[in-house]
Amino acid sequence: MNDALKKDFEALVGKENVMESESDRFSYAYDAAVLDPVMPSVVVRPETREALGKVVKLCNDNGLPITVRGSGTNLSGGTIPSKGGVVILTNALNKILEINEADLYAVVEPGVITAKFAAEVAARGLFYPPDPGSQAVSTLGGNVAENAGGLRGLKYGVTKDYVMGVDFFDVDGEIVKSGSRTVKCVTGLNLAGLMVGSEGTLGVFEKIILKLTPPPLAAKAMMAVFDDVAKASETVAAIIAAKIVPATLEFMDNFTIRTVEDFAHAGLPVDAQALLLIEVDGHPGQVADEAEKVEAICKQQGALRIQVAKDAAERNKVWEARRAALSALARVSPTTVLEDATVPRSKIPAMMHALGDIATKYKLTIGTFGHAGDGNLHPTILTDRRNKEEWHRVEAAIDEIFDVALSLGGTLSGEHGIGMAKSKYMEKETSRATILYSRRLKKALDPKGILNPGKIIGE
Ligand SMILES: Cc1cc2nc3c(=O)[nH]c(=O)nc-3n(C[C@H](O)[C@H](O)[C@H](O)COP(=O)(O)OP(=O)(O)OC[C@H]3O[C@@H](n4cnc5c(N)ncnc54)[C@H](O)[C@@H]3O)c2cc1C
Repeated sequence: MNDALKKDFEALVGKENVMESESDRFSYAYDAAVLDPVMPSVVVRPETREALGKVVKLCNDNGLPITVRGSGTNLSGGTIPSKGGVVILTNALNKILEINEADLYAVVEPGVITAKFAAEVAARGLFYPPDPGSQAVSTLGGNVAENAGGLRGLKYGVTKDYVMGVDFFDVDGEIVKSGSRTVKCVTGLNLAGLMVGSEGTLGVFEKIILKLTPPPLAAKAMMAVFDDVAKASETVAAIIAAKIVPATLEFMDNFTIRTVEDFAHAGLPVDAQALLLIEVDGHPGQVADEAEKVEAICKQQGALRIQVAKDAAERNKVWEARRAALSALARVSPTTVLEDATVPRSKIPAMMHALGDIATKYKLTIGTFGHAGDGNLHPTILTDRRNKEEWHRVEAAIDEIFDVALSLGGTLSGEHGIGMAKSKYMEKETSRATILYSRRLKKALDPKGILNPGKIIGE
């Protein structure tokens, strides 16, 4: 970074918001994925949306790669500045600009923290359903760029289902507007749809319009305890086959249960081979009816017992324990590789079986939990990357997990995105033409290739 350029950045965002020390740059060289860090040349932190646009333009004028960073919690290497250049932080762009109770939408800046937004919305008697496990830290901009899912995805969908519009900067720092505040809008190309899941490769969001809904009137959470993983995974398929769509239908295997209990002390049954954590919500009558049916299905499928949360405190305790799964597993070994290969729901039993075989074949510890109702499991490999021999086995196991998921009609990623971690597998799921088409699109929108280079489709 030469002095003149540094001064240009300082003029745009203030001296205090241009960070160049080795420790600052190292802090933004990695994210939650298990990949090698890459140092950026500089880290800048615009405090206004106007400054954000000007920083994007300055980078493009000088051919500097840009990696936009929310909270850096993505699990696919999306915020590793693989070509160095400039990391742009959005954490100062954290205003909720509008919550419209009459028209059920909100307008936010990209750096708003997800849980903070959901709480503000709830305080107005409304509901923003997408709830990634990282919601206490993740940003809405990061959620939109990754099309984040969460525990409620089964019934309520994922982030894309709540994005009504996105205003974003193109590489020239011009604002492109897409979508609207209306329920229906078919004006122009669906550029907001293109931005969702684009992982910072096509534009830099400055404002997001999100859909809100009325909250469910009642909810009931329960925990079904199994002595056999196969029985639990078959129960998931049976609940869906009975045409009941719980708000949440989560799975934990024995290793995860024990590890979480050790960490969160939530009263989980450590002797269970598998748990299903289920919540039904909606109108009180419907909730009572569905809860009864779900209980009956769990019993038919061989659940040892079913514990229904007596009150909100008990219900929260269960969900907090579930949200702690990754953090708890991460305490076990130096390296935690969390995958999110996803299969059609009816294939959950086959996927669970395959994961057991893969763990045995490669002699690895794999704890599995996740959004079973969506077919979105998180097999989590606990390892030590410094052990080269073991790491080779981990890499082979990951390849095989994706192969199995694809052979079952599944997908490489249910919610964590492709980033750098999975771009090498993209052609396996899609086609050569898909990659080339996507590259032509990227080239047209970002001729110098400065926006998060190397992510999703490689180069
Ligand atoms: C403990 C834990 C639990 C998790 N649970 C879930 C889960 O349940 N569901 C799920 O889907 N994910 C989960 N994740 C993954 C992660 O939290 C999500 O991908 C989240 O959306 C990332 O948000 P972030 O603010 O950290 O974004 P970052 O990691 O900072 O960025 C993610 C991507 O968004 C881009 N980006 C950020 N801001 C902008 C912007 N303004 N304009 C354009 N691009 C932008 C970045 O360049 C990057 O490509 C979890 C992660 C952890 C560590």
